[in-house]
Amino acid sequence: MTDYRTVPTVCPYCGTGCGMLLEVSGGRLAGVLPQKGHPVSDGTLCLKGWAAYEFVESPRRLARPLVRRDGKREAVPVEEALSIVADRLRDTVERHGPDAAAFICSAKCTNEEDYLVNKLARAVVGTNNIDHCARL
Ligand code: SF4
Repeated sequence: MTDYRTVPTVCPYCGTGCGMLLEVSGGRLAGVLPQKGHPVSDGTLCLKGWAAYEFVESPRRLARPLVRRDGKREAVPVEEALSIVADRLRDTVERHGPDAAAFICSAKCTNEEDYLVNKLARAVVGTNNIDHCARL
């Protein structure tokens, strides 16, 4: 087999952090293997981990943010999408108060990213309405 290699990484699907090897063949992601000896998972993956690579080549994967305008979804640059979100969040808080906003963190985020969402919610917006998808 030519041009085959594995790349060690961490499963992106939950906060457990299982170790996996991405199989690369012909310059494309071709599969995933459990990483033997990994301190967290020691050669095992759950069902989600075994399928963790499939979204990468999916034709249904979103490549750009979508904004709904006149009932239709329209692809926009990331900067424009972030500006729309910021404007609507600011408008909601000004009209209804900080507790009209809520933040939900993702298990796919790092601890540092979740910490920053916590700071954004509490210190910037002024609400304690913050939760995490792992509790749902
Ligand atoms: S393999 Fe399963 S348990 Fe391990 S990090 Fe991925 S989703 Fe979580």
